[in-house]
Amino acid sequence: MPIMFDTAIAGSLPKPGWLAEQQRLWPAWKLSGEELASAKSDATLLWIKAQEDAGLTIIGDGEQSRQHFVHGFLESVEGIDFEHKVKMGIRDNRYDAMVPQVVAALRLKGRVHATEARLTRAHTQRRVKFTLPGPMTIVDTVADRHYGDRREMAMAFAELLNQEALALQADGVDIIQFDEPAFNVYMQDAAEWGVAALERAAQGLTCKTAVHICYGYGIKANLDWKNTLGGEWRQYERVFPALARSSIDQVSLECFHSHVPIELMALLEGKDVMVGVIDVASDEVESPQDVAQTIGRALQYVPKVRLIACTNCGMAPMRREIALRKLDALVQGAALARQRYA
Ligand code: ZN
Repeated sequence: MPIMFDTAIAGSLPKPGWLAEQQRLWPAWKLSGEELASAKSDATLLWIKAQEDAGLTIIGDGEQSRQHFVHGFLESVEGIDFEHKVKMGIRDNRYDAMVPQVVAALRLKGRVHATEARLTRAHTQRRVKFTLPGPMTIVDTVADRHYGDRREMAMAFAELLNQEALALQADGVDIIQFDEPAFNVYMQDAAEWGVAALERAAQGLTCKTAVHICYGYGIKANLDWKNTLGGEWRQYERVFPALARSSIDQVSLECFHSHVPIELMALLEGKDVMVGVIDVASDEVESPQDVAQTIGRALQYVPKVRLIACTNCGMAPMRREIALRKLDALVQGAALARQRYA
């Protein structure tokens, strides 16, 4: 029988200071070659242990092996020029990033995440969730010099993501999550073809499938953007109906400290909902009462058995000790909610 109120992270966790630069979205590695490879594995093990100690019921690799949640995948794709990155405004010009260029037809060079997925599977008995960037968000994080059409390029990426997702499933991963923050920026495109590209990426998977849609990491450009969105954030309203009709099993959304009207969760009928009960844009650690209260609000629209307590987004740029305390708050809050709402 499933535990009521599973607990999980959205995806990323801070990298230790001996592995990479601190509190950066695209941190430079501090090692190279074999030393880097083994340090990534050490960091992954460390976070598996920390998640288990906190008491999370679903465990991730904390994305310790990738520099960035999108570019980590792209490094294994043929047809992309990483040598000549260009500056591009991403997420509808919310901020500039140095991005690689798509210069030829895309093909996977081989497995992308086999090492960290198998390592995670080998070191926890709990369910394992593994994250991949979604096709639409990838398209928004590379410069296109080949396809000339975002939808077509998204479908090309979706095929590659599908290859890796099927292999991750064979590695023993229980939940494969695609991260699609771009769905909250290009709502029309998301409904028109983003969800179809996502389903292509998940095609043939028999494990649980998930999509994470958020308002981004707690970086200044995102905080400034959020301030322009007004008192009610209704972006989800335009994408959730298409997701509700899709084959994707779980949807991860922001809730605590966001201006998302809680009733929008009703649009996800039939889906498991990963409710964001931990704010990743603030160092203030939530109390278990805060977390339980957010779960209680979500329960007005999400059935008990379908609610997973989660972080609003990844915690990559956060200080490690804050992230650890937030994991504790997440688990303690879910336990309190079980007492209140069982
Ligand atoms: Zn996110």
